[in-house]
Amino acid sequence: MQHLLDITHEQLTAWLKERGYPAYRAAQIRKWLFQSRVETFEEMSDLPKALRSELASAFTLWTSKIATHSVAHDGTEKLLLELADGGRIECVLLRDGERRSICISSQVGCAMGCVFCASGLDGVDRNLTTGEMIEEMLRLARLLPAEERLSHIVVMGMGEPLANLDRLLPALDAATREDGLGISHRRITISTVGLPPQIDKLIDRDTRFHLAVSLHAPNDELRNRLVPVNKNIGIAPIIAAADRYFDQSGRRLTFEYVLLGGLNDARQHAEQLAALLRGRTALLNVIPYNPVAGLPYQTPSAAAIRQFREILERAGINVQFRERKGDEINAACGQLRRSTPVVALEVPS
Ligand code: SF4
Repeated sequence: MQHLLDITHEQLTAWLKERGYPAYRAAQIRKWLFQSRVETFEEMSDLPKALRSELASAFTLWTSKIATHSVAHDGTEKLLLELADGGRIECVLLRDGERRSICISSQVGCAMGCVFCASGLDGVDRNLTTGEMIEEMLRLARLLPAEERLSHIVVMGMGEPLANLDRLLPALDAATREDGLGISHRRITISTVGLPPQIDKLIDRDTRFHLAVSLHAPNDELRNRLVPVNKNIGIAPIIAAADRYFDQSGRRLTFEYVLLGGLNDARQHAEQLAALLRGRTALLNVIPYNPVAGLPYQTPSAAAIRQFREILERAGINVQFRERKGDEINAACGQLRRSTPVVALEVPS
């Protein structure tokens, strides 16, 4: 059976037309899915019974199961989803004041190989489908009470989003459509290690999403070690592509920098980073590392964090140090997936 979330509004309208149903039925179905948050076709009570059963025989609504659902004291909730083929991905709901942000995955595993990241330890299995990514959004939306709505999306979970762009963009289209989740483009961030040809595709398609580039090192020698895919790209072409995206979209760029104790947190790294970003309309997000079991990397010391911040601030860089949310539920990407053995998976009823 086909995943209903994998077909476009136009394809659904055509499917309905072939069976003699008017186009407005497609809008009703979308409303039930995205706004009324129903779980089954049977609950779509303003559709004729015959249509509900035709939909149920032709399409599946959910292809994943919730394997684990963890809740942290700060309100962060994390789902480990088990896909139809047994692959596992993570997605997170974060509460911050009025904000209801979600972080979704774009691939099963990741090929970028960042040495400090749990998601990339086993390489990439496959791209997620458009429907699977929309399903992440809908599953997280269903964790909210009826009167609350998702406000922000970051595509920063497992995987490199720009390596799966052709499936990601239709999923984000469903997120932004008025009859979808209705989330503004400006509240959606795509995070990438920096793949210049794919950034240029975003430019060609005239997208208006925020772009966050994960640098993690201020020079190629160090970045080649921390983000191995950098050996084939280099920092300068990535920054140039990000600048082109800023020129076209007008969206302020974000650069991400995971601060690893004793590796990329020294005075000279902060100075090089300041030189690299100076003069750009950009925000630098520094994230003190969250240790991963089995990996030899350390959280930076308080003194190193202070020094790093002072150097960047003195250089006039717009920098913020992000607090780590959901630490006790392994909310850093890829950690829950690795720490949950397949045999221990429980599917809540
Ligand atoms: S940090 Fe992101 S890009 Fe790097 S391996 Fe992990 S999931 Fe992939």
